Amino acid sequence: MKCKRCGRNAFEKFRGTYYCRECLITKYEGAVESAIRRYRMIRKGERVLTALSGGKDSVAMLSSLRVLSKRIGFDVDAMFIDLGIGRYSRHSLEVSKKVAEMLDVRLHVVRLEDYGFTIDDVRGKVCSVCGNAKRYIMNRFARENGYDAIATGHCAEDILANLFKNMYSGNMEWSEKQRPRMEGFDRIVTRVRPLYEMSERENMVYVLAKGLPFLNEECPNAPSTKWKEIVYEIERKVPGFRVSILRNLARERRDGGDEEFRYCRICGEITTSSVCQFCRNVKKYARKNQ
Ligand SMILES: [Zn+2]
Ligand SMILES: [Zn+2]
Repeated sequence: MKCKRCGRNAFEKFRGTYYCRECLITKYEGAVESAIRRYRMIRKGERVLTALSGGKDSVAMLSSLRVLSKRIGFDVDAMFIDLGIGRYSRHSLEVSKKVAEMLDVRLHVVRLEDYGFTIDDVRGKVCSVCGNAKRYIMNRFARENGYDAIATGHCAEDILANLFKNMYSGNMEWSEKQRPRMEGFDRIVTRVRPLYEMSERENMVYVLAKGLPFLNEECPNAPSTKWKEIVYEIERKVPGFRVSILRNLARERRDGGDEEFRYCRICGEITTSSVCQFCRNVKKYARKNQ
């Protein structure tokens, strides 16, 4: 196979066409750039804090943002949250440090343990406690350190799988929170999803083409992948389904005012009740000896 663009030996297929390593990198970064411009995700001069986990998606995001930061004109730093999930967290941190070093990006490391507990202390709803802790720490850290936006590596399948899962349980509002750019308000920092239109496979191929390390290990608490499998299944039968739905979702506008919010009695962050979920989790799981 030859590269369709330059005729050299092909490396892999990207969106139905074979490319050499260099042309594939160019195509991938171009696709991320188009999505950023299409949804006005990141604006010139903004300081972006990228959530890095060491997995292929977040590595692909950081690498492409690093390249595009120069082209579009924004700043990019990375953040790793050590959740204290045994061996998995240790490996994730090692890989993340290596990636940040190779890309010459500043990496902040924050430990959940410093707030009084780790994910290994959690019994029961591990994924929801973990998700809440990540959002909480990221938002607070980004705001306290003057970042304009937080970038997360959610890919197209993540967003669609979440949408289906939420629709199934009757939560139709969720799609609002899945937008490519969610404007911040009050103490909430703007959130962006640069890989909104990119698939897991595309992220993987790009990271391999770039020769970047990534963690090839699932979180031991990872939830079932059945909803993602459904997304793949539909895409197989209806090529283009993924991007089409995501673009329609992003176009839809919500009417009505913002939800009401309050400030947490303990930490002052935004919540809908008197004490935020994170502080309730800290109280529940905090180590007795601390
Ligand atoms: Zn080529
Ligand atoms: Zn709180």
